Amino acid sequence: MDLGISGRNALVCAASKGLGRACAIALAAEGVNVTLTARGEEALARTADEIRKANPKIDVKIVAGDIITQAGREAALAACPNPDILINNAGGPPPGDFRNWTRDDWIKAIDANMLTPIELIKATVDGMIARKFGRIVNITSAAVKAPIDVLGLSNGARAGLTGFVAGLSRKTVRDNVTINALLPGPFDTDRIRTVSANQAKAAGTTAEEILKKRAAENPAGRIGDPEEFGLACAFLCGAKSGFITGQNILLDGGAFPGTL
Ligand code: NAP
Repeated sequence: MDLGISGRNALVCAASKGLGRACAIALAAEGVNVTLTARGEEALARTADEIRKANPKIDVKIVAGDIITQAGREAALAACPNPDILINNAGGPPPGDFRNWTRDDWIKAIDANMLTPIELIKATVDGMIARKFGRIVNITSAAVKAPIDVLGLSNGARAGLTGFVAGLSRKTVRDNVTINALLPGPFDTDRIRTVSANQAKAAGTTAEEILKKRAAENPAGRIGDPEEFGLACAFLCGAKSGFITGQNILLDGGAFPGTL
């Protein structure tokens, strides 16, 4: 399926590993020029090389920096000043008990998972509106729909972003600029391994056992493959996806038990 976005430019945040990387790979396979960000340069360069090898005709840029900081965002936007596609992503906040979280912990989570995507939308959306094409995808979490108790910082910060986008996405769609969120359930990335290791410590078991149990309990009988996530992201960025906006799409193997 040709998504009709060959030659477009995408800024993919937090994309050296995991879900962001999978989104960049899927967009690049559609002929989209990609600018990838992450803090660690080594993994970033490795991912960029893989993408270049698989797609020699596209332009692949990397920007090493912390997307949660203003300097990190400015560097990303300097490398990709007029993105047609923006994939908002950053690491998730640490798990824990809310009794131990300070105001500073909350500010960090809100900065990472709410205000950074809003700042990047603010910096790019008017250009998209002027050019009559824009696709913004926020990587949030299944926790937006069904909170995960130990991830209260994530539940709270991401719910704030979701509420904001619900309003804005209805304003921009008239100019063919859509804003949607993908809500990952369990996907096989470094992040799920870290969270599982923490849960294992508390439960006196191993991360492998926790992951095995999660896979067995999921209606799909497994955890997700990041490639599946990347392809869903690319679809939302397609030329013909302009009638999908303000949606929060769960990719969780059916784990959320509700009818809607
Ligand atoms: P991951 O495998 O740990 O990858 C995270 C990526 O983001 C890495 O490339 C990392 O590179 C980059 N990154 C992290 N913080 C950054 C920052 N401040 N600035 C720039 N780049 C940054 O994580 P993932 O599983 O792909 O998760 C992506 C998002 O989805 C997270 O917010 C996570 O909480 C959420 N999520 C994931 C799952 C899951 O099952 N995987 C489920 C629900 C929600 P550097 O460390 O080098 O910066």
